[in-house]
Amino acid sequence: GPAPESAKEALAWIEGRGGLAGPFVDGQWGAARADIDIRNPATGERLAGLTKCTPDEVDAAVKAARKAQPGWWALGGHGRARILYAIARMMQKQSRLLAVIESLDNGKPIRESRDIDVPLAIRHFYHHAGLAQLLESEQPGMEPHGVAGQIIPWNFPLLMLAWKIAPALAAGNTVVLKPAEYTTLSAQVFAELCRQAGVPPGVVNIVTGDGETGQALVAAEVDKIAFTGSTEVGRRIRQATAGRGIPLTLELGGKSPYIVFEDADIDSAVEGLVDAIWFNQGQVCCAGSRLLVQEGIAEEFHARLKRRMDGLRIGDPLDKCVDVGAIVDPVQLETITRLVDGNMEGETYRANVPLPATGCFYPPTLITGLSPAAPLMQEEIFGPVLVSTTFRTPSEAVELANNTRYGLAATLWSENVNLALDVAPKLKAGVVWVNGTNMFDAAAPFGGVRESGFGREGGWEGLGAYLRPVRGAAKLTPVAA
Ligand code: NAD
Repeated sequence: GPAPESAKEALAWIEGRGGLAGPFVDGQWGAARADIDIRNPATGERLAGLTKCTPDEVDAAVKAARKAQPGWWALGGHGRARILYAIARMMQKQSRLLAVIESLDNGKPIRESRDIDVPLAIRHFYHHAGLAQLLESEQPGMEPHGVAGQIIPWNFPLLMLAWKIAPALAAGNTVVLKPAEYTTLSAQVFAELCRQAGVPPGVVNIVTGDGETGQALVAAEVDKIAFTGSTEVGRRIRQATAGRGIPLTLELGGKSPYIVFEDADIDSAVEGLVDAIWFNQGQVCCAGSRLLVQEGIAEEFHARLKRRMDGLRIGDPLDKCVDVGAIVDPVQLETITRLVDGNMEGETYRANVPLPATGCFYPPTLITGLSPAAPLMQEEIFGPVLVSTTFRTPSEAVELANNTRYGLAATLWSENVNLALDVAPKLKAGVVWVNGTNMFDAAAPFGGVRESGFGREGGWEGLGAYLRPVRGAAKLTPVAA
């Protein structure tokens, strides 16, 4: 059932901050103003007011980060690791508060924020504390870029923050991060935890606001930009930084294929698909949102999938029994509705389950019989909507899978290891999961190809995005023999 005590605790925490979420700069809380409303998407209730940082406020944050950076780098790998471990431990202590705030703010089921988002975010800090310790021995001759400007989306607010901040700090950069305007509260808790963990002032700075604040951060004097969000905004950021020669990492959208061959373990593939497309209401960049199922089993597979859809529980994100929570914001709900209602092809099946009377809810939906070129087969819906088509041969499956402008992830199911090993490398995707899906680890680099972006997050590759060869190293002459 619901967790009223935790919710009260979380709301009291917000109330204790005057019901306002403002920037965190140079170790201090900055001007808190109610420029934008933060709402709980499951109820419509206003949770807090949000400061929309001006370009001057963004510049002040970048200056603070600039001032703090040499000292942070001078701490050395061990010194930085000690603080990264402290952050991880503080997050662990406050994991319940973090999970409840995340679910209140984003609408995701508490089971997900409690068991996935928060533990993975904590693990990311532990992992990068370890990498910081190894940095000097494993990556000699490398140094940080300086100040990293980081912009993240609303679908995994705390986890995306961890993916950005942990490697940047481990590598010796300082950061200015802008959370998405819909979901800023977990970043506020995080900033408070940084203070308690002894992070020196200016090392972690959070600027709050919407796309305009993001634009100001891109225009500011940062040495590196890391962005996760839509392909459209990613393209704009690439244009805006083109003349400046600063390194850029883009993690963008996707329309990832979920391929089921006729020899697959069907029940497991159905269960995997529930995770692939209904995890976080389908608002997942690597969601398995395009089902490609082999003709011979298509009917049986769709029948079992529909039965499973009818068993999903939709409702209050704080209810521990709920599988599917709320869509993040009315604007997003409207986008999903418009895309699906504008579709004239195929057959639409909606899960036969009751939806809450109010709030941003959308039923789990399956659309079958679409042609490969249909807009819904090509466009990222970013909601709980699965589109499906059939194939006859493995090569046709590969062709359909790659028939997209994206290339973030792909999943395939088959009991035939030869088939799986033959198909996997032919899929144009940053990650291919076989007989499983949505497997993430701090040690495994994640990222896309084609219009899903470039650069990796996680592992040594992810850390490498925050490092460059020491300037002047080329001037060193080898000792004469
Ligand atoms: P979005 O691009 O609208 O917003 C992302 C962030 O950018 C927000 O913080 C926003 O305020 C900011 N922003 C908006 N306009 C900006 C501008 N002109 N300049 C600078 N910053 C700006 O994306 P969204 O709707 O928040 O997120 C959904 C998208 O993110 C989807 O396309 C999804 O696939 C993608 N995503 C990708 C990954 C990945 O790792 N590849 C992960 C999560 C989400």
